[in-house]
Amino acid sequence: MADRNGRGIGRRTFIAAGMVGTTSALLGGKALAEVVQQYAGTAPAEFPAPVYRTLGRTGLKVTVVSFGAMLTPEPEVIRVALEHGVNYVDTARKYMGGNNEAIVAKAIKGRRDKIFLATKTLPDSRSKVGIIQDVEASLRALKTDYIDVIQLHNLTNKQRIFIPETREALLELKKQGKVRFCGVTTHTNQAEVLNALVDDRESFFDTCLVSYNFKTPPEVGLAISRAAKAGIGIIAMKTQAGGYRTASLGSITPHQAALKWVLQNPDVSVAIPGMKDLAQLRENIAVMGMKFTYADRRRLERYAEAVEGIYCTMCGSCQAGCPAGVEISNVNRALMYAEGGYGDHDLARSTYREIRPGADAAACLDCGSCQARCINGLDIAAKMERARGLLG
Ligand code: SF4
Ligand code: SF4
Repeated sequence: MADRNGRGIGRRTFIAAGMVGTTSALLGGKALAEVVQQYAGTAPAEFPAPVYRTLGRTGLKVTVVSFGAMLTPEPEVIRVALEHGVNYVDTARKYMGGNNEAIVAKAIKGRRDKIFLATKTLPDSRSKVGIIQDVEASLRALKTDYIDVIQLHNLTNKQRIFIPETREALLELKKQGKVRFCGVTTHTNQAEVLNALVDDRESFFDTCLVSYNFKTPPEVGLAISRAAKAGIGIIAMKTQAGGYRTASLGSITPHQAALKWVLQNPDVSVAIPGMKDLAQLRENIAVMGMKFTYADRRRLERYAEAVEGIYCTMCGSCQAGCPAGVEISNVNRALMYAEGGYGDHDLARSTYREIRPGADAAACLDCGSCQARCINGLDIAAKMERARGLLG
């Protein structure tokens, strides 16, 4: 098994029957039955030898495909990943209505020293007291006495990077040994956030969790490259460009191709696809060590065609066109959680509720005709209407 720095694990074969044995101690009857059902009649699953990269100036050696726990209802799925060498788990205070950290706590029990744990403060927390309370709550929920990477959640511009009280809180937590490294997460104005991390004279934050996939605008790719060269550890999320299933794609899934595309960029230290079940885990983890091929490129081209007019790259180009200041890309992100591969209506609604008052799709009801234009051909007014119907 990997040590704290992620070394020393070889290739192993995971036999379904053996896996069921390990689950029985951890799962209740219904959950166990579901896991058994997933594996019934399947061939033994091969897991590849882990591949590691260094997470920027943190120096942590992390598996290139790691675990985004946001959507994972069963700790056993995370546990299986850890047993097969995955050594970085990402969660957050707010996921699953505040229950996701407790799921992760069950998964990491007995192996805390072999993995790196990343979580996030609440998106609204700014004050010293608020940040400290968030971290203390995370420590309790995760049943641990330290967090490897604490991240300020969902920065929409560079301002939160420089709030003195936030830094004071994080420094105090570091001194107390409760956090090791500090990072940020962003989906909006990503290039601005990344560039601000680089330009920060104190180099306060060590990592950035960014939305990054084959549809990401070039300026974000350039900012990622600049940040990586400056020692910021780049963690990629939203690697599947929404993970939409469409009739025109049929049975083809672009998941592995999309993940390989992300990992062919050496500036990315680690990708954290969200994984709900063992099938998704197996599909994602298999990518470690694989090359991006011509066939992958074709798959992504087909996927891009299929989601044209559907997938919002969150580039922000339309924003200036909306006189009401509707947070169009955040509304679209919330909608994606409901309609894309996530299929998570709770997450969609909680993301929608986080939008600044007056800046959600309800503001469009007072608008004569939509002035905002999407450079990727999305019908913004129609998207806002769908969001109101589903999430409002
Ligand atoms: S309809 Fe378009 S321009 Fe009008 S408020 Fe909504 S997003 Fe903005
Ligand atoms: S709606 Fe279009 S222009 Fe606006 S953020 Fe999304 S992809 Fe960019």
